[in-house]
Amino acid sequence: MKKLEEYVISIPDFPEPGIIFRDITSILQDPDGLKLAIDSLLEMVKDVDFDVVVGAESRGFIFGTPVAYAMGKAFVPARKPGKLPRETVSMEYALEYGTGTIELHRDSIKPGQKVVIIDDLIATGGTVEAIAKLVEELGGEVVKICFVMELAGLKGRDKLQKYDVDSAIIYE
Ligand code: IMP
Repeated sequence: MKKLEEYVISIPDFPEPGIIFRDITSILQDPDGLKLAIDSLLEMVKDVDFDVVVGAESRGFIFGTPVAYAMGKAFVPARKPGKLPRETVSMEYALEYGTGTIELHRDSIKPGQKVVIIDDLIATGGTVEAIAKLVEELGGEVVKICFVMELAGLKGRDKLQKYDVDSAIIYE
């Protein structure tokens, strides 16, 4: 059986020149790849005491929901602005050019709940740092952050030093 990293197709100069895009659809479109990815994430959380998985829009939904389901936990989507229909809390964060904003439903995390955050990939760490701050604003505790892939050269972990962070594949 192939290793998880062998399912990732890397596309040079996408979406702009100089960027190497790590594509997760090549993992998902193979049943063995999909199983390996979800099993890797399950391995990271199997001994973690938690109540909720928060997945980052949009690829964090793909990986977060099966983990929540398999562990018998709830799933909460962290979404881009204007997508969630009920009262939200929102956080702005820096992007390479400009800013992004991420939102959670105000009632999605109850005070004291333990939260695992899942996304497909960490680059600068800005997206997940903003989600972690929102979870804490709602009174939740971030007990683990899991990624399928990490672009270590961008030093996203520096922003997440106070958290327990795990990645299945690390690109230097
Ligand atoms: P960060 O906030 O800089 O850590 O960026 C992480 C977000 O950008 C994640 O939600 C990813 O889905 C997306 N992203 C950045 N680079 C890539 C890539 O090479 N492949 C897939 N997603 C990427």
